[in-house]
Amino acid sequence: MNSVLIKEVFLLLESFKPDEWISSVYELNLDKLRKNGRRLLLFDLDNTLVPWNHPDLPEPLMQWLELARKHGFEICILSNNSGPRVREFAKRAGVAYIADAGKPQTAAYYEAMNKFSASPEETVMVGDQLLTDIHGGRKAGVYTVLVLPIAKSEWWGTRINRQVEKLILYMLHRKFRFSSPVQKKEFHE
Ligand SMILES: [Mg+2]
Repeated sequence: MNSVLIKEVFLLLESFKPDEWISSVYELNLDKLRKNGRRLLLFDLDNTLVPWNHPDLPEPLMQWLELARKHGFEICILSNNSGPRVREFAKRAGVAYIADAGKPQTAAYYEAMNKFSASPEETVMVGDQLLTDIHGGRKAGVYTVLVLPIAKSEWWGTRINRQVEKLILYMLHRKFRFSSPVQKKEFHE
């Protein structure tokens, strides 16, 4: 492979690399994010905040969202899932939302930032998928945080994406030594 092509592959790989990788949203360091000038939290819904198509809003999540608000964050859900499902959840959680967001396309990211007059530097995207949440966030220029998916049950399209994701995670690990405690265990087995 010539060096230009290798460079292109590395650039592409970087566009999937999250800035941070944590187990769940509860591990987000709200103080640190605020200190670094972030004030808008964009959340994927399915398998990031709750299991896929899960109708309930768990009490601990409700309390955590309140805590985030108290830290001065605006909150908006950015979901590729359909309108009614996302609307119901967002209403119960008392947060803004964009459904059918079309991630990794960047339009919905910009729409959310416009809604809150926030710049990419002030914005954080939190999600469980590299191919949609993180890749879109990287293209939109926001700070990206990958969480481990809450449950194994997923939409069939997501299950296909996960196969590609596995390969990208492996390449990220090889190139950047980038891994979570869970993944690290798998890579070294
Ligand atoms: Mg998700």
